Amino acid sequence: MAELLKDPEHVKSQEYFGLDRNWALVGIDDVPDWMISSRYLLGSMRPPLESFKLCYSSWFRLHTETGNIWSHFLGFIGFIVLFFVAIFNPLSISILENILICLSVASATLCFAFSFHFHTVRCHSPKIAKHSEKLDYTGILFYALFGFLPIIFFSFRCDSTTQSAYMITLCVVSVGILTMSRFKAFGRTEYRPCRAVAFMSLGLLTIFPTFHAYFKHGIDVAFNEEAFSLLCIFFSSGTTGVLIYATEVPERFFPGKFDIFFHSHQIFHIFAVGAGAVHFLAIRELQSFHSDPCPVGGWASENFTLTNSLP
Ligand SMILES: [Zn+2]
Repeated sequence: MAELLKDPEHVKSQEYFGLDRNWALVGIDDVPDWMISSRYLLGSMRPPLESFKLCYSSWFRLHTETGNIWSHFLGFIGFIVLFFVAIFNPLSISILENILICLSVASATLCFAFSFHFHTVRCHSPKIAKHSEKLDYTGILFYALFGFLPIIFFSFRCDSTTQSAYMITLCVVSVGILTMSRFKAFGRTEYRPCRAVAFMSLGLLTIFPTFHAYFKHGIDVAFNEEAFSLLCIFFSSGTTGVLIYATEVPERFFPGKFDIFFHSHQIFHIFAVGAGAVHFLAIRELQSFHSDPCPVGGWASENFTLTNSLP
């Protein structure tokens, strides 16, 4: 059976599971290589389903992707709601600031949509799996870029030179990773740690400027305590999620025991939605904190430093 399924011609054949509405769950040895995402998830997999209708109807059955699909579908719905909150309840009259916030929420919504679509159709065919996986990476990159831009923008709001330097660097690195993700090798199972490192370095590009802003300008100038705490929760939950994803814990230690619930990819998805919600609260807090106009000459100006150092 495994050999038959690995034969691309046979997988294309409609005789097999391809268009069978009564498909049964299969094990890792029964699916073609292009469907294997982890060596530690051994059973409860969908067979190749060569119809989008069948792929989408698999939402209502329990298999390795059910948790991945639903976690990001619920994240998608949540962020649509937050998008309307951002549009109809702006915390500032600045058009640029509101555009940055809305782009951030829209990119999160798109990221979760690409993700649940990828996890739904990755069993369709090698071509659709590859294409939807690229969309998934593109969504993550868009979210990283548009989600991190407002953090840098507000943390250096009145320090325009540093603000521009960090924002340009973030754009360049994002485009670099986007280009890298176009290469075939980027999506391979053995390159999982490399993908994690690429996305982590993008994350560091926001963690570093935030702490730079903390030490250069300090609390109550770059951000208030609430915003800083929210940013720390966002960074730590994001980092924890990525580490769990990269190390494939817990299924690495108990292969076959977490095929349906609580495998690393699912935990990573839950951390991503949680971190996204905290991120939204953080940028809104930053926006409401920075409601005053910048001092003449910015935060680096002598008058401003003098005023702020007075008891
Ligand atoms: Zn995923």
